[in-house]
Amino acid sequence: MPEITVIGAGVAGCSLSYLLDQEGFDVTIVEKDAVGGLLREIEFETGYHCDSAPHLLFFDEEEEAIVGDLFSEFTQLEPHEFYAATYPRGKLSDPHHYPVSKQNIDKWDDADAIREELAEAPGKTDAEYFEEYMKNQVGETLYNRYNKDYTEKHWGIDPKRITGDWFDFKISFPDEEQEFFGDGAYYPDDKYTDILQSMIADCDVVFDGVTGLETDGDRISAIETESGDRINSDLFVSTIDPSILVDTSESLNYRSMVILGAHIEASERLFPDHVDWGYFPNHYDFTRITDYKFIPQSTPDGEYILTTEFPSFIGDEVWSNSEEWYSEYLMDFLDEQGINATLLDAEVRRAPRAYPLPVTEEIDTFERINDRLSAYENMFNLGRVSTYEYIWIKDIVQQAYETRDDILEYVQQSTAD
Ligand SMILES: Cc1cc2nc3c(=O)[nH]c(=O)nc-3n(C[C@H](O)[C@H](O)[C@H](O)COP(=O)(O)OP(=O)(O)OC[C@H]3O[C@@H](n4cnc5c(N)ncnc54)[C@H](O)[C@@H]3O)c2cc1C
Repeated sequence: MPEITVIGAGVAGCSLSYLLDQEGFDVTIVEKDAVGGLLREIEFETGYHCDSAPHLLFFDEEEEAIVGDLFSEFTQLEPHEFYAATYPRGKLSDPHHYPVSKQNIDKWDDADAIREELAEAPGKTDAEYFEEYMKNQVGETLYNRYNKDYTEKHWGIDPKRITGDWFDFKISFPDEEQEFFGDGAYYPDDKYTDILQSMIADCDVVFDGVTGLETDGDRISAIETESGDRINSDLFVSTIDPSILVDTSESLNYRSMVILGAHIEASERLFPDHVDWGYFPNHYDFTRITDYKFIPQSTPDGEYILTTEFPSFIGDEVWSNSEEWYSEYLMDFLDEQGINATLLDAEVRRAPRAYPLPVTEEIDTFERINDRLSAYENMFNLGRVSTYEYIWIKDIVQQAYETRDDILEYVQQSTAD
């Protein structure tokens, strides 16, 4: 069987490597950091852990066949109802349903005016841009209170420019409180990193950063690495930013995220009992706080494992703060909310390429760069960073199966030639 080199050991690289290993390929994975990518947990010195921002497996019945089947080979998946709240007035004492429900309207003094506005709104319609899509559905007032500032803060771009095919999947406007993933969500019994490690147990893993390609006409002959090595292979798969691999003066912009993991002792839980995380569509520098009571580990009464997400661009003020700044920010926030809390441990995780930007100009740049990479016949790519798509684990596992099939077809074709 041909040798294949997979760049990146996130869920994309690991799930595809596993599927290729099962087909008898000789797989080498090159990872510059650690196995897990965005799925790598935050580990506390106090012995507990959490995701670096909550990672839930959600899929409908059709997708379950492959996503659930693949993960279930390595772990038990527990069904879980996740609930979220949003705090438009910035007060933990004032939770509103998220997804934003029609019942939220009663929480505002101008409820009658909001209802009149809604009666005039076109409702769920196709729209190219996020702002138009939202205003059509929830009206101007609710959009301004729940979505506008949050979206600007999350993406760092004007919601008028945000495009994509994910609105319909992500946004709903139910009559009453609804669980976050209507079609069902699961959480694994084991850590994601352990699951991914088991997937690649029979593959070689080289810890090194890939810096470029060595090419021979329309084929790639080797990849070059930070340590000065070259790794030869018959086939290559990338799950990383394509601008690292091709010689180009253009670069790709991603929204980055600084994630603070905090183990705290506190006078009370931040959210209502059934709520797992809260959104903050207001002036705070963070977008979301999550309470990890859904993780299969037990923390003593009065202790909580939290993550707080600070969106940023690399090098901006939020990104460049010292590690202490993020915990101080969270502790000041809790204090302001009247929660008496002590920080037991904290860890900061920086994700430079957390979100591809759903903006036409950025997508066009991606396509120009990616066209050059895909011109090499023995290169394949998948995953969120490499395909520059705002996609989830379920989509990536689906891509892994498709990429495996493409590779098998390529090999069959090459052998026939
Ligand atoms: C805050 C947040 C919350 C999320 N929540 C969910 C959720 O609830 N459910 C869900 O399904 N999805 C969720 N996602 C999406 C999910 O995390 C990603 O889609 C998925 O983890 C991406 O996997 P990947 O393998 O494509 O990329 P990555 O995980 O980024 O993996 C790429 C790997 O390549 C490595 N690498 C980078 N450069 C190089 C180089 N030059 N050489 C070698 N290796 C390199 C990196 O170190 C990394 O390990 C969330 C994402 C974020 C940011």
